[in-house]
Amino acid sequence: MSESDISHRFIINDSGVRGQWTLLDASYQTVLAKHDYPLEIQSVLGEMMAASILLTATLKFEGSMTIQARGKGNVSLLSVECTHDQKLRAIARWEGDTRGLDFQGMLGQSTLAITITPQQGERYQGIVPLDRATLAECLEEYFGSSEQLRTQIKLFHGNNRAGGLLLQVLPTHSGIKIAEEKQQEEWERMTTLASTLTAEELLNLDCATVLHRLFHEEQVELYPAEPVVFECSCSRQRTADALVQVSRAELEEIIAEQGHIEVTCQFCNEQYRFDAVDVTLLFTAASPGDTSEDKTIN
Ligand SMILES: [Zn+2]
Repeated sequence: MSESDISHRFIINDSGVRGQWTLLDASYQTVLAKHDYPLEIQSVLGEMMAASILLTATLKFEGSMTIQARGKGNVSLLSVECTHDQKLRAIARWEGDTRGLDFQGMLGQSTLAITITPQQGERYQGIVPLDRATLAECLEEYFGSSEQLRTQIKLFHGNNRAGGLLLQVLPTHSGIKIAEEKQQEEWERMTTLASTLTAEELLNLDCATVLHRLFHEEQVELYPAEPVVFECSCSRQRTADALVQVSRAELEEIIAEQGHIEVTCQFCNEQYRFDAVDVTLLFTAASPGDTSEDKTIN
């Protein structure tokens, strides 16, 4: 039996190549249980969730990362949010029939925005063109060109699981020095070995077994497992902060019509209800110039 809802970092010693492995089960199924997603969307959402874990572990930051694509066709939004400690939530919006659509059919000609919001410091955003056949290929191309870090990414989904494997050349500032020519050779050798990985293996075996199958002649240093969980960052307070951004008159109009305001979190379906007294308190509690962290209603 395989371990799931974890990720592992590893280093292939003497090769100048590092890696990340993840397998999502309960965390992925929790996302699927929130909405009645068509199979095609389940697949791409699973791959995006796995990718977000691989990238979060690779791009060092303390805070949160959002991976978001806005399609031009039936799929208008795919969004995954992941914190540095691998708490994630995800959502898709679509309309009409998505049957038979592949990755390009859903998201072709659009872009993927990767936004990192650190707890301290500036927000960073990278834009990934979605012009390749798969999400994995688009991300590989992006890291290879804009970050100048040769990267191999494999993403798989199936049987309500999603997972992935990432290999990347160790950045030069990592302290491990390998001659350029040897590094190139080793990179080609490792990625050729990793390219034999199948969905069946990744989705059904534990990390150590997968790495042994791929790199059994190498010295692989496997780091301890890090848990991955579904966790929504919504709260009554954040919902209230978002409501304050709407005009008081507008909120009072809704109360007059419906007796209360109900805000449903689209990520987790949690409902937050505010009545006339709550709305009055919102505006007496909020001081002028009070800016909330999150201006959109989740
Ligand atoms: Zn929520």
